[in-house]
Amino acid sequence: MPELQYKDKTADVSEEAVYSAARAISRARTLVITSGAGMSVDSGLPDFRGKNGLWQGFAEVEGKTLRTGDLAITKAFHDDAAQAWGFYGRLTTLFRETNPHVGFEILRRWADTVENWYVVTSNVDGHFQKAGFETSKIVQKSGTMEKLQCLTPCRPEVWENDQSFTIDSSTLRSNHVPSCKFCGGVARPNVLLFNDFSWLYRQSQEQEERFNKFLRECNPPITILEIGAGKILPSIRDMNSKAATKFAATIIRINPHEWEIDAPHISIPDGAASGLSKIERVLSKHDLDSSGHQTDYL
Ligand SMILES: [Zn+2]
Repeated sequence: MPELQYKDKTADVSEEAVYSAARAISRARTLVITSGAGMSVDSGLPDFRGKNGLWQGFAEVEGKTLRTGDLAITKAFHDDAAQAWGFYGRLTTLFRETNPHVGFEILRRWADTVENWYVVTSNVDGHFQKAGFETSKIVQKSGTMEKLQCLTPCRPEVWENDQSFTIDSSTLRSNHVPSCKFCGGVARPNVLLFNDFSWLYRQSQEQEERFNKFLRECNPPITILEIGAGKILPSIRDMNSKAATKFAATIIRINPHEWEIDAPHISIPDGAASGLSKIERVLSKHDLDSSGHQTDYL
């Protein structure tokens, strides 16, 4: 797949902003980690919906070009499931073979220092789980490639994607099409596509309900990390903005393209791995106690 290049404006990350972010993390009793495509891009995974994302263009697969936008709709599975799975099968493999970047490790450490935490992501790659975050404390707002569902769907059930795929290099078609374990028809990934009226969202909805309960019951101060979540798919930003108002939470927005946010929130105009590493360097220079509240230096 082509390297995705952004050509937006850039800004320097001020030391003051990094210190403010470190302070907000070390003082938090509750950490809410939210992320969009920018989080995955740093691991080398494609952005789906962003301005230069996969759905807007083409992908090179086995030296051939696929119009990826044509595959982002359920019609692709109805028309030619082996072709659609040629693409999604490759993504499944890519997600499994790619290791989460250093930022995940940093977040894992921060999560260990706070009283409580939660993850909300619009990414479908399952990399928070892969990085060791418990599935029961993750909201996958757009579903996950690691689950399958019936294309019809014949019933509202999802199941593990335990399939592996081989893609024919001349046709870009998958060697097989996963079938529905109930009706034997075509199965598709349980991810939200464009104009998708047959995506089974119950799992995602239940995750959101658990998260909303968590927010109502968790202890302040709450710090919300918002990493690589753009304006094109604004659900993460909208959610954070509402939560910040309702629970007096502080948002740390890490984004190399659309980083602006009004004070008292904190803006880090940087990529996920780089921005998180800068904050971690400040935190690790100073010993935090087990509760993360030792912040004299800040
Ligand atoms: Zn079925």
